[in-house]
Order: sequence, then C-alpha cells, then structure tokens
Amino acid sequence: MKIGIDLGGSHISIGLVNNENKILKSYEKDFTEEEKKNIKPVIEKYILETVTVIKEKLKKVSFDDEKLKISKIGVAVPGEAKNGAIIKTVNLGINNYNLAEILEENLKIPVLVRNDGKCACIAEYNNLKHENKDMENKIILFLNIGTGIGGGVIYHNQLLQGNQFEGYEMGHMIIKANGIPCNCGKQGCFEKYGSILQYKNKVKSRLNIPENINGDELRKIMKEHEEEIEDLRQEYIYDLALGISNLINIFEPDVIIIGGGFSHFSYMFVDDLINKLINSNLLFNKRETLDLRIAKLGNDAGIIGATLID
Ligand SMILES: [Zn+2]
Repeated sequence: MKIGIDLGGSHISIGLVNNENKILKSYEKDFTEEEKKNIKPVIEKYILETVTVIKEKLKKVSFDDEKLKISKIGVAVPGEAKNGAIIKTVNLGINNYNLAEILEENLKIPVLVRNDGKCACIAEYNNLKHENKDMENKIILFLNIGTGIGGGVIYHNQLLQGNQFEGYEMGHMIIKANGIPCNCGKQGCFEKYGSILQYKNKVKSRLNIPENINGDELRKIMKEHEEEIEDLRQEYIYDLALGISNLINIFEPDVIIIGGGFSHFSYMFVDDLINKLINSNLLFNKRETLDLRIAKLGNDAGIIGATLID
C-alpha cells in the first residue's frame, strides 16, 4: 500500500493506492483564500490527519498483514522539488520547504516529493504501456495543461531529469519576447498563453461571465457564443501549437499526451490543434500525422504518479 498526495495551487488530494496502482480511497480539500495566506500549517495538518485516518482504517481491517502496511508516501507538488523539499512553486507561493522531513518525523514512513507534471507523466506512461504493448522504446511527451503548464518526457522507458535542477519546465519556455509577465519572474512564458486558465479567463472577460462559474456552465456558454469567441479560440490554438511545435522539434516524441484541466475542453481544440501543427510552418520535420492523445487518468494522475516516484 502506498499513499499518493497531489498538492495543487488551490487544492490537495490524498489517495490510498494499492500495488496495482489503483486508488482505493481518496480524500480532498480545497484551500480557502484565508488558508492560502499561511498555507504550510494547513497542508501539514491535513496530511497528518488524513494519513492517521487511513492508517487506523487499515489497522481495523487487519492488524499486521504486511500487504496492508503503508510502504511510502509520494507527494506531487506544483513546482521544483529536490531531496524531499519544495524548492520553488510558481502558483502556490511556497519556497524552500522541507515537507518530506516534517512528514517523516511525524509519520515514520518514507516520503518522496516530485514535480506534479512529472508525476502525472509517469502515471500516464504507465497506463499507456498497460494498454499498448509496443511503448517500451518510444519517446513520450506529456503536457499537463491546467492553471499552468507542466509535464515530462519519457525517453526509452526513463523519465528525463535534470541534475542540479529538475528541468523540463515546458510552461516556462518563452514563446513571446517581452510578453505577459509570468509568476516565475520572466515574461512571455508558454503557460501565460497556452494554459486552459488563460483561455477561460479571456472568454470570461469577453462575455462578462462571473469568475466563479463552474466548468459545465462555462462550456455551455462557450457553445452558445461560439461565433463571438472564435477569434479567441483560433488565437489559443495558435499559441498552443507554437509551444508544442517547439517541443516536438526538440524531442521528436512518438506520442504526445495532454492532461490536466485541458482534458475537459479538449474537444473544442484537439482536431484543429493537430491540423495547425501539421499544416502550418511550425515543424522542422514535416509530417502527415501526429499521435496526440488526451490523458486517460484525469485527476487521478497526480496521486498515482506520486506513488511511482523512486
Ligand atoms: Zn514563467
């Protein structure tokens, strides 16, 4: 048994995961604006309480069955992580915070921490391998498009990682010189144009839609005002294609998987995005097809991927 924790910019999910990488039970909490002002104690308290609840439930099932012991806890974090510490988060405001040390001291279970895009990348790759037998030697590019953009690259069965820093910060690749300021301190980053949050914000502002509208209602309004927002959709597809084409030119992936909140809106973009990538002058190596898929695990990818950190 393992515990996977997905820490996001505005919410945390914790799941009990078995050795077949299935989530057996999950818990989640949204952070209030008040909590976000001093988030560290909120995160620690929620994790410690939830893990204690999980341990007690497992104890009731069977006291000393080895299979029911929690062997490790993995935490997916929205930023740079190293040796159990969260070094830098762009959208959560936590820096140099050794979460693993604090949790290990209290729970006496090994804790591993890694960037959330990479965790989701490993989880989706694992799932892809499970469904397709010929994935072992492929190059996979995974993009998590949500509030920001993260991701990872699998090269011949291995997740590519930096040494001094984690690297592969696709969302912070600059696609516009002197462009929109990013929370990372640079300007013109891919995520300021390609994240689904940016697209939703542009649509909301154009159509005067309230900030707190839910996804279903937003998609309904988008459908009703299709023509009115077509230029925004085209602009978004172009910016996405620009960023993704840079990554294709560098990595030449065999398969591209897109996950994150984008999945819920993907039907509006995917066909045109593939067309734009193939038919405009963005790719160094021209081609007629592109294997671009939408992620299968949805919100579970972070939790499952966190338990696959080694
Ligand atoms: Zn940035």
